Amino acid sequence: MALEPAGRFAPSPTGPLHLGSLATALASWLDARAMGARWLVRLEDVDGPRCPHGMSEHILHQLAALGLQPDQEPLRQSTHGHAYQQALALLQQAGWAYRCACTRREVDDTLQGLGLVHQRHGERIYPGTCRAGLHGRTARAWRCLTERPGHGSTVQWTDRLLGTQSQDLAREVGDFVLRRADGIWAYQLAVVVDDAHQGITHVVRGADLADNTARQIWLQRALGLPTPSYLHVPLVMGTDGHKLSKQNGAQSIDLHQPLLALKQAALHLGLPAVAGQDATSWLRANVPLWARLCPAG
Ligand code: GLU
Repeated sequence: MALEPAGRFAPSPTGPLHLGSLATALASWLDARAMGARWLVRLEDVDGPRCPHGMSEHILHQLAALGLQPDQEPLRQSTHGHAYQQALALLQQAGWAYRCACTRREVDDTLQGLGLVHQRHGERIYPGTCRAGLHGRTARAWRCLTERPGHGSTVQWTDRLLGTQSQDLAREVGDFVLRRADGIWAYQLAVVVDDAHQGITHVVRGADLADNTARQIWLQRALGLPTPSYLHVPLVMGTDGHKLSKQNGAQSIDLHQPLLALKQAALHLGLPAVAGQDATSWLRANVPLWARLCPAG
């Protein structure tokens, strides 16, 4: 039986919504509405220390003021640890997850010893040291195997905007972390468990996350979960040429002018200008425009 379509917006509540996060929220809302689908919100607050107290509530308040109401009670990742634990146990039983004792320093030393100083987005490609066991060292993190006989290590997928994508996980990423040494659940595992738990069929998110998709599909396959369709929308850039963020001057959305904020986000997404009296009627008028701009995948 085909799943009922559902989309989602999954902010990390590290700061208030700004133009960049609003563009993603709007794109995912329009995409869901254009399919007649549910639109859900998930607060990705697994990394507690990075999420200021009350920020999740503030974001929900901002969304409501913009007319972007989720169709269900938002899911908070901080309350969902038991589900990540269960998924990790399944991965472990099936031989996909292993314990790792390496510190960053040890990973660096091993890579240097192997003549591999290569890093990816500032992250080390784990050389697989603990695949063969801990040899008496103390376990720190959990990692996911990225190659195994019969499974290869390459994931191919098609983004609705970016087209065909391919990543060789073993060579380009390495065995990635599922649970960090400090006990915090890794984004990759939490997002895969929660997309399945919330029945998400259509993921719409910022282009900076496209690179994570192969890892997420890999985990979906290992856990026997369905793979949603993916659409990565262009990022709003800050004055320094990097993704707009608190650090490069992003302003929190002005809730006194919700329509203006929505129109700016729509302009960024390439939607044609539409007049509107209020956020609700403006949002409704944009649904068919989105359907034309980004037909359902
Ligand atoms: N929480 C992530 C962020 O705010 C988004 C995760 C996702 O959409 O998969 O960047």
